[in-house]
Amino acid sequence: MKLLFTDLEQSETTYPLIDDGWFPVEELNLVDGPEGLTKAALTGSSEAMVKGQVRCTILSSCDRCCTEVKLDLAADFVYICMIGRKEYERGRQETECRQEDYNKLYLNEPVIDLGELYREQLYLSIPSQVLCDDLCRGLCQVCGKDMNQTACECEQIDQESPFAVLRQLKDR
Ligand SMILES: [Zn+2]
Ligand SMILES: [Zn+2]
Repeated sequence: MKLLFTDLEQSETTYPLIDDGWFPVEELNLVDGPEGLTKAALTGSSEAMVKGQVRCTILSSCDRCCTEVKLDLAADFVYICMIGRKEYERGRQETECRQEDYNKLYLNEPVIDLGELYREQLYLSIPSQVLCDDLCRGLCQVCGKDMNQTACECEQIDQESPFAVLRQLKDR
């Protein structure tokens, strides 16, 4: 899914997500989607504003107990796309000086790769920790039993784990 600068207009145009060839099927286990759309408009001779949203559902696994978890990913994004090296240098200084509420994207060619934007945004929306439940008790570090299903009698060894800390609090 690529947008050519020469196809863009000054008025905002909507581009629905019709092709999902960009989706990283080998890395993310897709069960629903992706869906999305992008609105784009020229904001200068070598500058365009791209606003979009993308969502999908993937299968992942709980970081604590390894149970399969359905994960809804969704992202809204705004990019200012700029062509050329000169803008790149200037833009870098600008972004160092002030906080931006949008991302700047510097292009070598007057082509915006929407697939790449969608992919990046989905990756960014993956939570750093995936849990089947906030209270998931995980697997026993000693016998490997799923502690959500059965309680075991093992002495827990890893006192650093979030679960161990929680349990200490509870036992108090
Ligand atoms: Zn879990
Ligand atoms: Zn155990």
